[in-house]
Amino acid sequence: MREPWKISMHGGHSGDFSKHGQDDLEPMLKAAIAFGYTTFGVTAHAPRSADKFFYAEEVEASYTPRDLNADFANYVTEARRLQTAYADQLEILVGAEVEIVPEAGFDTEAAALRVQHNLDYIVGSVHWVNEMPFDTSRSDFDTAVASAGGLEPFLLRYYDLVAQMIERVHPEVVGHLDVPRLYVGDSDAMSSAPVRHKVDDILERVAAGGMLLEVNVSALRKGLTAPYPASWIVERARDASVRFTLSDDSHSVEQVGAHIADGRDYLLTNGVRSVWALRVSGEAQEIALE
Ligand SMILES: [Zn+2]
Ligand SMILES: [Zn+2]
Repeated sequence: MREPWKISMHGGHSGDFSKHGQDDLEPMLKAAIAFGYTTFGVTAHAPRSADKFFYAEEVEASYTPRDLNADFANYVTEARRLQTAYADQLEILVGAEVEIVPEAGFDTEAAALRVQHNLDYIVGSVHWVNEMPFDTSRSDFDTAVASAGGLEPFLLRYYDLVAQMIERVHPEVVGHLDVPRLYVGDSDAMSSAPVRHKVDDILERVAAGGMLLEVNVSALRKGLTAPYPASWIVERARDASVRFTLSDDSHSVEQVGAHIADGRDYLLTNGVRSVWALRVSGEAQEIALE
């Protein structure tokens, strides 16, 4: 059923434009309509400019930076076609999930991508610490943590990069804020006093910048007990007047809409009564959750 709160501002990672997506973009958007979404933001991964930042499946396919750029350009063309074709059934936004590599120039790359493709918006996510990927596998995570000198320094560096990303990229949506929880779980390290201090600083920046903080339910399909971010962060964000949104972070038809209702319940349980959706017009609209 179509209900106003059924929104996803980050997802639609599709197999025709990403080596680790499964289904093509059009069937994913048809699934979004069938699920009853009112707004669906498609956010292909931004192309990375150097092959040292490629993911395993891209290396396997002998990809070059030029191939990633071509995939992204083709993605925008197809997404714009579908945005028009399905306009009477679903508000589709065409965006990108940007990366923070290379650390020296990711802001310039994100700004160029936005302008070159006239993107509706950007999701800012951190998947790399010290230019090492950490959410790709347990062993990648362990390697990145070891190179940072242990879990706490890793987490503090991670949140420093999130703060930098927010200041340098100005994304409309901040992606999966505590994604290291994928491998850390709910251990005390995720909410130590120094970590809380950094998270509070980030939430102030998100609120001041008028950005949307996503509740990303991909954590639930990956076996975690709560979406990103953890409920203590949701509560602090709520108290800091941060605006929330919802995301399924889908990479297949099956994942479109999965657990979004749980995300809504999670927000309500944590005292959040509304979410915000971006509009093609560029405005954000508040939507009651009940
Ligand atoms: Zn992905
Ligand atoms: Zn991501």
